[in-house]
Amino acid sequence: MDTYQTAVAHNSVVTADTDTVLSTPFLVLGGTLPTLAGISCRTTPGSACAGILMLGPVTSARLANALMEVPDPAVPIADFAGNQGLRRDFAGERLDPPALAAFRELSTPIWRRLAELPFRAAHEDRAELALLRIAYSRDAAIEASFAADSSLLVDYRLLGRISAARQRLEGLADLDLLRRRFFTRTHACGQCQSARLHAYEACPACGSGNLVDEPIVHHYRCGSQAPESRFADGRLLVCPKCRRELRHFGVDYGKPGIAVVCRGCGAVEDEPVANFACLDCAAATPSADSTPTDWHHYELTEEGLRALHDGRLPRLEIAPLLKGHGRAFSPVEFGLLAGEALRVARRYDRPFALARLTVANIDQLRRELGPVAVDGAFRLAIDTSVGLLRDSDFVTPDGPASMLIGFPETSAALAAKVLDRVKKEVAVVVAAPLEIAVTTAEGEHASTLLDHE
Ligand SMILES: [Zn+2]
Ligand SMILES: [Zn+2]
Ligand SMILES: [Zn+2]
Repeated sequence: MDTYQTAVAHNSVVTADTDTVLSTPFLVLGGTLPTLAGISCRTTPGSACAGILMLGPVTSARLANALMEVPDPAVPIADFAGNQGLRRDFAGERLDPPALAAFRELSTPIWRRLAELPFRAAHEDRAELALLRIAYSRDAAIEASFAADSSLLVDYRLLGRISAARQRLEGLADLDLLRRRFFTRTHACGQCQSARLHAYEACPACGSGNLVDEPIVHHYRCGSQAPESRFADGRLLVCPKCRRELRHFGVDYGKPGIAVVCRGCGAVEDEPVANFACLDCAAATPSADSTPTDWHHYELTEEGLRALHDGRLPRLEIAPLLKGHGRAFSPVEFGLLAGEALRVARRYDRPFALARLTVANIDQLRRELGPVAVDGAFRLAIDTSVGLLRDSDFVTPDGPASMLIGFPETSAALAAKVLDRVKKEVAVVVAAPLEIAVTTAEGEHASTLLDHE
């Protein structure tokens, strides 16, 4: 009974959804929609859109612009023009009733999930939330796969070839909105950065791949050891060092092992090294010098789903970033430490400085560069800053993008010098133009920074 009712209810939901969507027009790119029953083409930009149909060649920039403009960037996409590398849920030869029916069937569960969680996004978070929403609506992980036609060697079919896909997904994973699952490690050519490399065993001396395994011959009498070919003299074995003939295996000489001999330069090695030859520029890169990149699959987390519900990515918070550092304390502990340091400073006439370090332009950068890039820069800046402090210094969060630092046995001038170094190092390490503002105070004045809260 229950099952039957559930099935009916479920079915009616599907029908209702599909009916609504059937009446919703599609956005057409790269052509004009032929007259076809049950499908219409959208004419007003920004109005509701059931999906995108690519009917002719479409550039990735054109599709990206269209996805910025449509109300929901996760609508299903059908490609009828062989647009390689673009995001698409369905590919067909031509737009005819059977293809349309197949695309509809495939899109129905996607439409249902999209309708269950209407899209909303703060303007600056839209592009990243769209990635999460694609994973959510397709009810699928964002899978990495090999792509021989990409110099990166890996792509994410679900997303199509968008710029900096890996960096953006990594950023979302850093925010705990996606969960990583390891896929593979690629290496980059030292010359052109391509990951399309062919690995081979190479001579460490000259880089040649022309190597051969040869038995080592050990002449017992004079102690000479060399690859067998060095002893070969016609059909005889003659020691290259003492010129005596080697007659009896096990009596005159032995073969204690195998050596790798380079036919290029003649070097004899115990272990060849791994080299990469670049399929794009033919340069050879020793594997030890190549830059590795780890690629992952990504799954939407509970926090990722929450971000979709909230319509925005989590805000930057300094407190969780400080947690891992040994010199970081809660505001209460910090207050106690600073109070004690001040008492010592007063009683023994010792210096004590306090400083507030703030990333001043964080909101502006977030709007300009997007939350994921700024979050990464912010983390790096905080790690770098705290890493440069001395063992005796102590820190606590002070607002979302600000921290207080206590400098025992330190004058304000010296603390300012330390913080100057921090600012310089952050500017070197962090690519984004973070503005770091610093206020320092010493002795009795230090308490004003504390009271400021
Ligand atoms: Zn190359
Ligand atoms: Zn060699
Ligand atoms: Zn010899």
